[in-house]
Amino acid sequence: MRPYTYTQARTVREALRGAGPETAYLAGGTTLVDLMKLEVMSPDQVVDINRLPLTGITLDNKGLHIGALERMSDVAAHRGVRQHYPMIAQALELSASAQLRNMASIGGNLLQRTRCGYFRDITTPCNKREPGSGCSALEGINRGHAVLGTSNTCIATHPSDLAVPLVALSTVVHLASARDTRSVPLDTFYTLPGTTPEVENVLRPGELITGITVPRSPLAARSLYLKIRDRQSYEFALTSAAVALRLRGRTITQARVAAGGVGTRPWRLPAVERALTGRPATSDTFEAAVAHAADGAEPREHNAFKPALLRRTIVRALTELMAS
Ligand code: SF4
Repeated sequence: MRPYTYTQARTVREALRGAGPETAYLAGGTTLVDLMKLEVMSPDQVVDINRLPLTGITLDNKGLHIGALERMSDVAAHRGVRQHYPMIAQALELSASAQLRNMASIGGNLLQRTRCGYFRDITTPCNKREPGSGCSALEGINRGHAVLGTSNTCIATHPSDLAVPLVALSTVVHLASARDTRSVPLDTFYTLPGTTPEVENVLRPGELITGITVPRSPLAARSLYLKIRDRQSYEFALTSAAVALRLRGRTITQARVAAGGVGTRPWRLPAVERALTGRPATSDTFEAAVAHAADGAEPREHNAFKPALLRRTIVRALTELMAS
């Protein structure tokens, strides 16, 4: 591991002072420490932010506010989250392992790096780790890779379960830098790989996530997160779906749908939402609505099953939601 300086910050201002492109913020450390050991990430400066006052889970008339340093397990167990935003609690409980959920922070979860094996293997070309070196996954083992939002430089899947329901619910991310604060919709926070796969989001050098707000929505109370994976624990999604429906009688008056495991970022599906709205909540409606869920998908040799699996995942999520 390359030498680096380690400091503990007690205030946000202290954490941001002097922060730049070579600064890494340490919260739970469940991604950063792994990647530093592998020499995939080699920051000059590690700033421990665990003492910052960035905790708290509150519900008010604007929505759900979660501090960036809240641990995944605490958010998943919060009574208000479980009652008013069940798919957020479900996505958290289906993530990683219990030990990791006790350590990992909400801010860190949103910034976790891809699980592409080539990204973590510094002996192989990877444009995300070393821009311009090539993408080993294009012709390599790409079963878990993305089919939506890909480019010829990178096909890495976005790994966060939590980000999927958050995108479906139009969550806003709050950011702070030494100069100012700003809030960005999570949907536009993540960037597509294009020709710069090393850039994954709109965070500026030294900027810090301080929290998130999930807007208040009666829709969110009837919601479900479904994750399809090779084994039932401690595994990333092959496909996942976050679905929320508002009904009048049996008619869908509002729908939110987003997908995970298939895109280079969490993937909102507005066309599916539109196809569900105004229709009866039946299996025929669900099947028809997902027909175009994977439009534009570009499968590779080992992940050609993903578009069909995505459609089935959404239908099953909607069916389970109606049965719950
Ligand atoms: Fe690297 Fe992306 Fe290619 Fe994986 S898919 S090897 S992360 S460039």
